[in-house]
Amino acid sequence: MCKQTALTMHTVLPEMASRGLSTVPSVGPCVLPPEVPHEVPTSTPLWHNGWYRCARILESPNFGPRPKLSHIDLVVVHCISLPPGAYGNGHVQRLFTNQLDWDAHPYFQSIQGLQVSAHFFISRTGELWQFVSCDARAWHAGQSVFGGRHNCNDYSIGIELEGTEGHCFEVAQYDTLYAISTALTSQYPVACFAGHEHIAPDRKKDPGAGFDWLKLQRCVALPDKVFP
Ligand SMILES: [Zn+2]
Repeated sequence: MCKQTALTMHTVLPEMASRGLSTVPSVGPCVLPPEVPHEVPTSTPLWHNGWYRCARILESPNFGPRPKLSHIDLVVVHCISLPPGAYGNGHVQRLFTNQLDWDAHPYFQSIQGLQVSAHFFISRTGELWQFVSCDARAWHAGQSVFGGRHNCNDYSIGIELEGTEGHCFEVAQYDTLYAISTALTSQYPVACFAGHEHIAPDRKKDPGAGFDWLKLQRCVALPDKVFP
């Protein structure tokens, strides 16, 4: 059985609703918002304007509107770590909110000025972060094509796993991925899952061979053809 318990400790939706969706840290340029353990009231809707109840919200400025009548039917799985192979340092969250200090590590010089985002990020411990409403267009796929349709950002939801291309992922990450994937398929007309490597094969290799698509497939309970 796939557990969906990993998400319940880190929800900020009630605050999100009351504060007009602003969670950008105010203490300093590189301070992440505090953890807000919170019991989710069962009366709270799972989704609110594209924001997921069980995610830790940190809004990114890197998003835009989806084209009118977008059919949000693709979930794109990525992996990222900054610098590559270093986990749990908050740099990905800073990158997605344009707060990364480009001088903090030599690797960052190679991505200086990059403005990107994903809808979701799953840390090595299974913590789920959300940066962009799923109703909006996040900037995760870049030049891409899936099933003959270009610009996957227009119609996809991007999930970043904290990790390294070709390396394995944690059980806690799969648990969270199952939970958010199930929540997404219940809310949006998701017809397919793909890796970044599948929609931009000339440029990208993530999540890579270390990601177990069969594990996800077994737990999300969708037909084989939905997965790579
Ligand atoms: Zn990617």
